[in-house]
Amino acid sequence: MLPPFVNEPLTDFSHDHNAAILREAIAQAEAQLGREYPVIIGGKRYTTGDMLASPNPSNFAEVIGLVHKADIALADKALDEATKTFHEWKRVAPEVRARYLLKVAAIMRRKKAELTAWMILEVGKSWAEADADVAEAIDFSDFYAREMIRYSQEQPLTPMPGEQNNLYYIPLGVGVVVPPWNFPLAIMAGMTLAAVVTGNTVVLKPSSDSPIIAAKFVELLEEAGLPPGVVNFVPGSGGRIGDYLVGNARTRFIAFTGSKEVGLHINELAAKTAEGQLWIKRVVAEMGGKDTIIIDETADLNAAIEGAVASAFGFSGQKCSACSRLVVVEAVYDEVVKQVAERAAKIKVGQVKEPENWMGPVASKSAYESIMNYVEVGKGEGHTLTGGAHVAGLENGWFIQPTVIGEVDPQARISQEEIFGPVLATFKAKDFAAALAIANNTQFGLTGALYSNHRQRLEQARYDFHVGNLYLNRKCTGAYVDVHPFGGFNMSGTDSKAGGRDYLLLFMQAKTVSEKL
Ligand code: NAP
Ligand code: MG
Repeated sequence: MLPPFVNEPLTDFSHDHNAAILREAIAQAEAQLGREYPVIIGGKRYTTGDMLASPNPSNFAEVIGLVHKADIALADKALDEATKTFHEWKRVAPEVRARYLLKVAAIMRRKKAELTAWMILEVGKSWAEADADVAEAIDFSDFYAREMIRYSQEQPLTPMPGEQNNLYYIPLGVGVVVPPWNFPLAIMAGMTLAAVVTGNTVVLKPSSDSPIIAAKFVELLEEAGLPPGVVNFVPGSGGRIGDYLVGNARTRFIAFTGSKEVGLHINELAAKTAEGQLWIKRVVAEMGGKDTIIIDETADLNAAIEGAVASAFGFSGQKCSACSRLVVVEAVYDEVVKQVAERAAKIKVGQVKEPENWMGPVASKSAYESIMNYVEVGKGEGHTLTGGAHVAGLENGWFIQPTVIGEVDPQARISQEEIFGPVLATFKAKDFAAALAIANNTQFGLTGALYSNHRQRLEQARYDFHVGNLYLNRKCTGAYVDVHPFGGFNMSGTDSKAGGRDYLLLFMQAKTVSEKL
């Protein structure tokens, strides 16, 4: 009997012992920089010589590793291998599949510091953020293992005399898994393992900004003994092999997390029936956010300000759940926004391998350029209260100052478009009703928070604040598996509620068998 699921604890790096372990893991990862990683299909390694280098965003001259990019022929081979393996893997008993995930979780727990170190180096996560990413990956493994066992039990049906009726959850087929770089282990592992534990096989196309941590994960799956061909690893450009994989007749479903633009493109492409295709493809698409925190005049302002700053600037604002819109009622606007800007200005930004730096760089050159462009747009759409420039003295990395822009119009571009960086737009609302209207006026609907001590407003927000994950009197980032099942409304995606009890259903279909006795 499995013990009940519990969340993996976060590491306390104020203990010298824990800090020393991570420092050592960073040093060991640094000793391996620049290694090459192959395409892996059906357990076989392929090198193409067409390399993708993954730079360290804290120091972009440093190459974390190089992956061989799969071409169309290898993408095709991956689909073949996944199709072939599906016919064996789907017959493996659910509890056996679940045990692979328990093993994967156990190995990740043992290798926690190593995985944390690679994320610090590859995407610029701070120690605490990278550690939380590994903990979430462990949680997904442990939780989905238990969920698969639950779904494999006898399902309740109303009895019919003279018949034996059963409902079985069976897998879908070959899934293409397309993760983002911002939770380079947790989201990539979560989508992949959900597909695998439910009996599907996977073609995993990692993000081009975090292929090394994905390669480490695939090595770890091999270590756990997962049979070859269940997960096939095909790094490469989204536009090139991504379209091929998504559009292919052998693909049964696509599990995507990333931007609205790419998600909508995948959804459209998947809706076209390819020659020879036998099913309607299923698309699970979790997309962008433009998340709002509301602070009213009854709120505990200290807690609210702290929550807003943590939500806006943790991991440089590069979370789909990050607060990019702060709406404050008029009576406390000046006070709150002044303090938010002061705290933002004090954030210690720098190389994340040093734990005293609370905020690191943004993840890539293209992210840097896009965010800096929005910073310029923001200068014309409001008053820059703090930030608005590159961090002086940190010229070798993509470091952007925490930026707060005052009195933005709710229709402005920086209010409506996802920036995905350390840029917070603030809005003055005449009262709570006006604040709620601003919060709801984007096409997204991922997370949101209300800080208030007004009972009716808290109740009203439960119904009228239209987001998939609403937080009352706490920050709008930091969802835990099976505590805060995660997914958004409207253009934030299909509301898959990752880390929740409905999630595995997205990777299965139900078969009803009725036998007349
Ligand atoms: P992205 O640019 O949309 O890329 C996501 C993935 O899609 C990458 O692996 C990318 O590969 C791939 N891709 C690009 N074009 C493709 C195509 N034509 N066909 C198939 N795949 C394609 O997003 P990102 O910059 O990695 O991640 C940030 C975004 O993710 C933000 O919008 C954020 O809000 C969102 N996000 C949402 C959630 C959520 O739960 N709702 C969670 C995390 C992040 P390449 O790297 O090779 O281009
Ligand atoms: Mg990188």
